[in-house]
Amino acid sequence: MPHTAATLVYDIRNSRYLNITGRCTLRCQFCPKHNGSKQVHQYQLDLKRQPSASEVIALLGDTAQFDEYVFCGYGEPTLNLATLLCVAKEIKARGGKVRVNTDGLGNLFHKRNILPELAHCVDSLSISLNADTADNYQMHCRPKLTGSYAAVLEFITLAPRYIASVQVSAINGLSGVNIDACRQIVESAGATFKQRELNIVG
Ligand code: SF4
Repeated sequence: MPHTAATLVYDIRNSRYLNITGRCTLRCQFCPKHNGSKQVHQYQLDLKRQPSASEVIALLGDTAQFDEYVFCGYGEPTLNLATLLCVAKEIKARGGKVRVNTDGLGNLFHKRNILPELAHCVDSLSISLNADTADNYQMHCRPKLTGSYAAVLEFITLAPRYIASVQVSAINGLSGVNIDACRQIVESAGATFKQRELNIVG
């Protein structure tokens, strides 16, 4: 049955997903949030507020039961950085693994390099690139901050220096986007490329 209350944690396969913000630095035209759906699988992910670390920690469950904890949801987790760092440290202290799904704009938003802070408590990063040019990025991701495409490129280059596993994705099927050019950008930055397919979530 669909949940009507906002969901802070939800499970997909053997991972527990943590939804810590409804805010985002992008307004992707392919985002389900902008296409009338606030649900992934059966979960209602639209958050009106930024949950505190203690609210999320209370919902972690037994870390031994999950392959990893993934900061994800319908918002950009680095926009609730205090909660992200505090919860991630707790997961690590309990022996769990942490992945953060991000648009790679955390440094631009916070006006500093947040990677050293993430490096203490994050095992892997999944960064959405989604475009091979600034124009395509503008068209598909509709960033709220100027300089976003340059910022995500810089983040992708910096991230492997701090985080052991960095995966960067683009979506095959977005009009005008050259998926091979995206792969090239990612691999030359020393990260791993992941090709996604349009309309497949989770
Ligand atoms: S980054 Fe994710 S949550 Fe934000 S607008 Fe794009 S698809 Fe939606």
